[in-house]
Amino acid sequence: MHEKCGVVGVSLTDREAARPLYYSLYALQHRGQESAGIVTHDGFQQHEHVEMGLVGDAFDQNDLDALSGANGIGHVRYPTAGGVNTCCAQPFSVSFKSGSLGLAHNGNLVNMEEVRDELAGLGHAFTSDGDTEVIAHDLARNLLEEDLVRAVKSTMGRIHGSYSLTIMHDETVLGVRDPQGNRPLCIGELEDGYVLASESAAIDTLGGELIRDVRPGELIVLRPDGSGFDSYQLTDEPQTAHCFFEHVYFARPDSVIDEELVYEVRRDLGRELWEESGVETDVVMPVPDSGRSFASGYAEAAAEDGAETEFAEGLMKNRYVGRTFIMPTQDERERAVRLKLNPIKSTIEGRTVTLIDDSIVRGTTSTQLIELLRDAGAEEIHLRIGSPEIVAPCYLGIDMASRDELIAADKTTEEIRDEIGADSLSYLSIEAITNALGKDHENLCLGCVTSEYPYDVEGEQTDREVSRPVIDSASSADD
Ligand code: AMP
Repeated sequence: MHEKCGVVGVSLTDREAARPLYYSLYALQHRGQESAGIVTHDGFQQHEHVEMGLVGDAFDQNDLDALSGANGIGHVRYPTAGGVNTCCAQPFSVSFKSGSLGLAHNGNLVNMEEVRDELAGLGHAFTSDGDTEVIAHDLARNLLEEDLVRAVKSTMGRIHGSYSLTIMHDETVLGVRDPQGNRPLCIGELEDGYVLASESAAIDTLGGELIRDVRPGELIVLRPDGSGFDSYQLTDEPQTAHCFFEHVYFARPDSVIDEELVYEVRRDLGRELWEESGVETDVVMPVPDSGRSFASGYAEAAAEDGAETEFAEGLMKNRYVGRTFIMPTQDERERAVRLKLNPIKSTIEGRTVTLIDDSIVRGTTSTQLIELLRDAGAEEIHLRIGSPEIVAPCYLGIDMASRDELIAADKTTEEIRDEIGADSLSYLSIEAITNALGKDHENLCLGCVTSEYPYDVEGEQTDREVSRPVIDSASSADD
């Protein structure tokens, strides 16, 4: 199950956690629109409310009032290919002999089946096919014999893949980031407590201050009285595997991830795009909203080089249409592009155009947009893309597409240009990504653009020595 999601957790001194959690889920809505959920603990018992749909639709006043307690976690979930899946809405919550647990997960385990089969063999019954439940059962089992920190460490030793988790164990909120830090997670301070969130924009929304990213392999335990947090570095991998695509597409531009403001990274990538493949046209325009920061960097660098190019909006977005990807069939996806974007004729007609977007996945959006711009009278259309060719699927938590759907999986750039109908097409190089992010290849996950993954994915190449955990069933006690 590819979970591309947003997670939060808060511990407050003297205030109910439900509303701050609700607001922070609003701030993370872009990370998932399929379902939203909150789990709180009031010192006596756990409360939960999980619904399908957008955050604004999933909760009403009564739901929030019923979520009592100053500690809690929340989750927004992205729709997976194939549509709606009620069983996997999160946080996943359950009571075990070892206490109540709630888990919110962003990422994807690559050895889920292995851990699940082993736990099933030991008598664990599962209600979903998601990997979050597998983590919950493993942790609950460890908690029978070990204290909280050791139990988390043991679970981390058995699961392999990407995970940023917020966990509620009784009334304690925890944050965990996988040993290579694939998905983001950060910690912030509020006037009256602490917050963990996938992105710092959620901390800003609560009026808090970003303290720092949670480190790869680190466990953060928020004190339930909201007075502080404790940190435990549970693993120590020599390399990280931060997902570059968070910076390119997924995260909000106003978030700081792994110490970089996403907006600045995108602008730098736009500047690199001009350096690598700039072309002087009458107008430069972004595909809203994903291409906007790239286009502003590109246009700025072009102007510095003396290019006489106007930076203008040529496509208007209907903000009430969701991301094109949620349309399950190709036909629906094609129609959705026209529903979503409409050209402003006066900026396009009779002019040469550079169109800038962050990425091409299936090629549907670009093909439709180029047709739209031609219909609006563009003389030439040059497409510039702020990431390298996406040639392979994501197994680590971004719902991308399968290999046979990816337009760049088996085509040259010239073949793609021809298929989408542009006058010219250029992608950004991998070096430009590593430069703009200030991180080398060895510390990034570039699997979707290189076909080599920093995790041990069955049937795929890996680009490093990975320490995949060995499942040792003999060491587990009965639940
Ligand atoms: P496509 O039409 O399949 O080529 O998709 C490319 C468009 O979808 C670009 O405008 C991207 O901004 C956006 N995009 C890229 N990756 C994703 C993703 N994982 N989920 C949803 N949209 C995406």
